[in-house]
Amino acid sequence: MIQNCLLCGSHARLRKSHIIPKFVFRWLKKRAGDSGFIRNTDRPNQRVQDGLKEYWLCDPCENIFAKDETMFANRIFHPYCAGEQKLRHGPELLRFTTSVSWRVLHYAYGRNSSAPYTVTQRELIQSAEETWREFLLGKRKNVRNFCQHIIPFGLISESTIGQLPTNMNRFIAGAVTLDIIGSRKMCMTFAKLGPFIILGHIQGRTKDWIGSRVWAQSGTIPATEYHLPWGFLPLLKEKALHIQNAWTQLSPDQAAKIDERIQALGDAFFATPQGEAILADAAMFGLDAIKRN
Ligand SMILES: [Zn+2]
Repeated sequence: MIQNCLLCGSHARLRKSHIIPKFVFRWLKKRAGDSGFIRNTDRPNQRVQDGLKEYWLCDPCENIFAKDETMFANRIFHPYCAGEQKLRHGPELLRFTTSVSWRVLHYAYGRNSSAPYTVTQRELIQSAEETWREFLLGKRKNVRNFCQHIIPFGLISESTIGQLPTNMNRFIAGAVTLDIIGSRKMCMTFAKLGPFIILGHIQGRTKDWIGSRVWAQSGTIPATEYHLPWGFLPLLKEKALHIQNAWTQLSPDQAAKIDERIQALGDAFFATPQGEAILADAAMFGLDAIKRN
């Protein structure tokens, strides 16, 4: 596959690159205790082997991404999933989150032909793409207003917000998905890497977001407090519902395969993070929330 690299533009042999970094899929597989309970959430009848990949990057550009991914996986992602707090990061976090948002933008933009972007949004999307690309190539020192956010989530046991989807804990703790989200006045890339949400800001007020912004230098994760705009919650609920609906399409054959694997693990399944998320949903929403119809 000889083509122009999407990041640096050089004509080169391109590698098949992951849209969502590979370590996330390795984590997903381990997370369910190798029960095989790993499905593409949009099409649960298909097993996820290794996540989405595209021929996008030349070797040097792939290496730029790989270095920051390894740092994020080792310093933040895995320690956080193991229950550690106050995790220090350096400038690599802004590069990593920008690289994720840049990939999500390229993958999701234009894929949904019914997505109604305004003229302003289309212009801003182009500017964001250019800014993120130049930043990743080291041609600029900051990402201007197209800032990055990262939000780590834990399991929830109660909420003052009504009508949460009954798979909310499973969604929050484990879903891996991506999209461009927004309304007529707000637009962001959205990537969910298990318990972490990464957002690339394209349009909307940035001051409504407190605690989540990724700064160019060092910092600590999680922040002491997070304030997210109200408008973000319906979008999150919608994503969780979308996944819940997709799971109702699970064929009887596929459902039987999953049940067999979970039964083989026995009680040990509920000690896995996937099992814990299922129990948290049962505790919060009742047993019906986790039964398959
Ligand atoms: Zn390149």
